[in-house]
Amino acid sequence: MSQTKVGLVSLGCAKNLIDSEIMIGHLHAAGMTMTPAPDEADVLIINTCSFIDMAKKESIASVHEAVDGREGSTRRAKQKIIVAGCMAQRFAQELPNLMPDVDAFIGLDQLTQVAPIIDRLMGRNAEVGMQNAKSVNGKDSSIPNSQFPTPNSADQRSFVTAKPVYIPDYDTPRFRLTPKHFAYIKIAEGCNHPCSFCIIPKIRGQHRSRTQESVVKEAEDLVKNGVKEINLISQDTTYFGMDKWEGQRPNPRSGVDSSRGESLASLIRALNNIEGDFWIRLLYTHPAHWSDDLIQAIAESPKVARYVDIPLQHISDHMLKLMKRETDGAYIRDLIKRMRAGIPDLAIRTTFIVGFPNETEDDFNELIEFINEFKFERAGVFNYSREDGTRAHKMEGHVHHGTRKRRRDAAMLALQARAKEFNKLQVGKTMRVLVESPGVARTYMDAPEIDGTVFVDKKLPVGEFADVTIHDWRGYDLVAK
Ligand code: SF4
Repeated sequence: MSQTKVGLVSLGCAKNLIDSEIMIGHLHAAGMTMTPAPDEADVLIINTCSFIDMAKKESIASVHEAVDGREGSTRRAKQKIIVAGCMAQRFAQELPNLMPDVDAFIGLDQLTQVAPIIDRLMGRNAEVGMQNAKSVNGKDSSIPNSQFPTPNSADQRSFVTAKPVYIPDYDTPRFRLTPKHFAYIKIAEGCNHPCSFCIIPKIRGQHRSRTQESVVKEAEDLVKNGVKEINLISQDTTYFGMDKWEGQRPNPRSGVDSSRGESLASLIRALNNIEGDFWIRLLYTHPAHWSDDLIQAIAESPKVARYVDIPLQHISDHMLKLMKRETDGAYIRDLIKRMRAGIPDLAIRTTFIVGFPNETEDDFNELIEFINEFKFERAGVFNYSREDGTRAHKMEGHVHHGTRKRRRDAAMLALQARAKEFNKLQVGKTMRVLVESPGVARTYMDAPEIDGTVFVDKKLPVGEFADVTIHDWRGYDLVAK
């Protein structure tokens, strides 16, 4: 029997990318092959995003494109289309009716079952899947008939289960889609925060952390395989380990505290002890959990990049309260000062939301003053997106889209002025960079796919560190000699 060829379109953020990597790992283990050409695929998986309206529209367009492509091609007539990821999870009830041409919907708990679900769609039984798996791995990586995935609703195409609980481990089959020199590690999944604008906890479920040992093992393997930058990700990286603490349950405001059990601080210290020349980067930290223990752990761990991603969303007490961010303006101002004092050369990346319901001109002006005063090295601003199923969706006082746009444009101008000022100050400095592709590199202040780049000599080897001197800048990017 010929091997099943699978195409996969991965949309959305790095967390979704890891889910795609896990699916591909399991497809390979089951003896299936991947193809970049939709025309050649027996099965096409679209791993969707559904964080905000724009992402949802992109996901729907990708599914329609797949369905239209199949209809317009005799070669693809028997192709199966699977919708996976956040959109399938979020709209588990609605999608089967809205998308009659899709062959299966799978959620977050089905990532590791993607191969047997494909076997089922192709009209094969688990035994055939098992034979294929044996022929590739020399061991049985398929699942027994008793655990063969069955649809989870009256609609036989939907396998999605509510309230996902899955979390990967260090030995989870995974095929990395990032370049050889950088990788993401998902240290936890889900979120316990009540942010009123966000649908993620409803999609991805309650926070669940991996063990520190599992994360360290994965990092050790990555470093052995030549990875130079490890990006730690989850919905709330600062809550790592806290869900397993014994005694009093931590709440959405509890600080990172290694004396209570595994935490981001203890994880950082353990990762810092891994031999090798590499950076660790912290993404998606929540301000409410920052503590002196965490600041100290970063300060004393030279392998942790002096870069922190900490979405603040706003600074006005009025907005932070309505957003249910568990923080207020005084706390945030004090925290940023403590972070800068405790971690010299720290580059802070943050994001803000403007146009949240009931945002006044005073709230907005306070935000602009804050941006100008605290001079973040990296920052972005988003227009509030009204999402079904969130607390904010039901609020009174939604801001007119014209006002939202005007405020976003004004906030962007303030941030651009700061970026220009900051980049000018970098001229003349010698910096360590990681070469991303011929002639393009990133400093410790630049997370992959998010921040700026440094234009460097094309002869510098890709995937290696290099020291360069900055002699100019262009927009958000730097130019090195
Ligand atoms: S911390 Fe808030 S914004 Fe981030 S995923 Fe959790 S609920 Fe959403």
